[in-house]
Amino acid sequence: MKIHEYQAKQILARYGVPIPRGEAVTDADAAAEVARQLGSPVVVKAQVPVGGRGKAGGVKLARTPDEARAVAGQILGMSIKGIVVRKVLVEEAAQIAAEYYLGITVDRAARRNVVMVSAAGGMEIEEVAATTPEKIARVWIDPGIGLADFQIRQVCYAAGLEREAVASATRFLRALYDAYVANDAGLAEINPLVLTTSGSLIATDAKIDIDDNALYRHPELAAYKEESEDDPVEAEAHRRGLQFVRLEGDVGIIGNGAGLVMSTLDEVKRAGGAPANFLDIGGGAKADLVANALEVVLSNERVKGVLFNIFGGITRCDEVAKGILEAARRLSIRVPIVVRLTGTNEQEGRALLQGTKLIPAETMEQAAARIVALVRGGAA
Ligand code: GDP
Ligand code: MN
Repeated sequence: MKIHEYQAKQILARYGVPIPRGEAVTDADAAAEVARQLGSPVVVKAQVPVGGRGKAGGVKLARTPDEARAVAGQILGMSIKGIVVRKVLVEEAAQIAAEYYLGITVDRAARRNVVMVSAAGGMEIEEVAATTPEKIARVWIDPGIGLADFQIRQVCYAAGLEREAVASATRFLRALYDAYVANDAGLAEINPLVLTTSGSLIATDAKIDIDDNALYRHPELAAYKEESEDDPVEAEAHRRGLQFVRLEGDVGIIGNGAGLVMSTLDEVKRAGGAPANFLDIGGGAKADLVANALEVVLSNERVKGVLFNIFGGITRCDEVAKGILEAARRLSIRVPIVVRLTGTNEQEGRALLQGTKLIPAETMEQAAARIVALVRGGAA
């Protein structure tokens, strides 16, 4: 689960990581009020769980409350990498002497957590890693021993941090590591970590990803989870217990089994189409679940056609057919639906669909070609 910067900072503060004073707000007047209370120049920052907000114009300095109101007005409602900004973080601007990168993540190959430090902070670390990897110093953490102070000093010196910053970087990294472990994070990244003109270190940016499989251990993070699901279609799908991922295209896809659904996405691409989503209704799906799935897919306004690709094993094709028909009765279906049913009870399933507006297909390739042609407006 990716959380917002202001949420990551709330977590970090609990473990003693120094963060700027500030508050997240949803409108421009509130941004001005926070700036007034802080009584200093502020940065106004778009709260979207993606990187590169600065480059996209989502991070702006403001010297006065009026300026804060103006820039917050510009940033709120802006779309960054397809996500609409609904909140801005207004915080005290840091006086920057140097910018560093600090990150902790899982190194799967080493089967350990790795700490990364670089003096080339502020820039996108992927770029630093690709062009000048020697600028990133790394140290791996033995899970039985934990992060040792000497390791921290080692990695900070290797990265070329200013000597006077190393002692506070040690405290900083220890707090970051504690937060990372205690919250079951898979990534905790501070970029930039700022050395201020008065010589202290502060996290001006923060990114934390929490392992989804560990969320049950963190009921206190439930509110973050809700907010991380900005996409209403995706949120609704998850509420209904569906495995759903939104994609960019216009062909809705429903299938059973993750592998089959992924092959279906490929097949639609190969036929020249663009899938609107991944949706796996799982094994043994009953009519009701199928109807739910179709409803969710059609709630995405971009969808111009739907492809069902069902392999009947435990799932019975006639149950799926009933579900599609049930959904067709419940909703006013405005787009073509191609259905490929094969396996258990396929005859019964196909018989149910006969004489309806649903378009049958024999194979996955035919089904994909058919729906793509229909969505493109041609005859199939
Ligand atoms: P990102 O682009 O999404 O990674 O957002 P960041 O929070 O890293 O902000 C982007 C850039 O804005 C940083 O690299 C800094 O150069 C600048 N910036 C962010 N916060 C401050 C601040 O408090 N003071 C100053 N002077 N610059 C800041
Ligand atoms: Mn950043």
